[in-house]
Amino acid sequence: MAYTVTFWGTRGSIPTPGPHTARYGGNTPCVAVEGAGGQLVILDAGTGIRALGVQLVERRNGAVKAEILLSHAHWDHIQGLPHFKPFFSPGNVVRIWGSRQGTMSLEAILRQQMDPAVFPVPLDALSAKLDVEQVDGAGGEFTIGAFRVRSMKLRHPGTTLAFRLTPVTGGPSMAYVTDNELGSGGQYSTAASWRKEFVEFLRGVDLLIHDAMYTPVELESHRGWGHSTYAEAVLLAADAGAARLVLFHHEPEHDDKAMDDLLAAARREARAQGRPVEVLGAQEGMQLTL
Ligand SMILES: [Zn+2]
Ligand SMILES: [Zn+2]
Repeated sequence: MAYTVTFWGTRGSIPTPGPHTARYGGNTPCVAVEGAGGQLVILDAGTGIRALGVQLVERRNGAVKAEILLSHAHWDHIQGLPHFKPFFSPGNVVRIWGSRQGTMSLEAILRQQMDPAVFPVPLDALSAKLDVEQVDGAGGEFTIGAFRVRSMKLRHPGTTLAFRLTPVTGGPSMAYVTDNELGSGGQYSTAASWRKEFVEFLRGVDLLIHDAMYTPVELESHRGWGHSTYAEAVLLAADAGAARLVLFHHEPEHDDKAMDDLLAAARREARAQGRPVEVLGAQEGMQLTL
């Protein structure tokens, strides 16, 4: 099955609207994966999900059915949820998939996000039907509609998951990996063999979307923050034999000019390794077909 991947939010940590970030985008993470028959999986619910929700409601042919898969529950990955338009019409069905955090269930996290102290509409008052599907934080496999999903725990504070999606009927696969520290630093509950297993998890993937928040210089003052450099992402893509790498979760302080420079440096790095990984920088509105 062929499908498209559309970037609705590319920015890490906090939205960065304004003219200096207009090309790469200011909305926080949200990526839509849509099969040729309309089967939709939404990866993360950063502020980018607002505009996607508007589009889904506008083009609806009957009720909206949305499957949202969360990498983790840090603000920038769930911030757009309360403004997801399909929530506010009866007949729509929204299913949210993600891991618990510590002893807190995914449903409790979502409920807290819309607590009356911080948001006017509580979770129970939404017009749409909401289902919450908790997935195993240690990683595993499950099916969402037309896609088989494999997950693996990442090196990031809390429980953060990578997802590899492959159409159930076969076809190219993609991996969504945001908020992941490939270098040393930080205290994570991952085994010493983690990188080796992660390379196997990604082996031969057609499209790899990966955290590339920092330059190597910036990383030196951000070790333990749970993010990677473009150089680390390029090396990982090459090791795993990924065909295409999309740099993602852009540092809020990087304007479009800084992002052009970062992308050029990443492409030089890929050429220097002599391995044919195509490198792109995630831009809001960018659509790839697999
Ligand atoms: Zn993040
Ligand atoms: Zn995070």
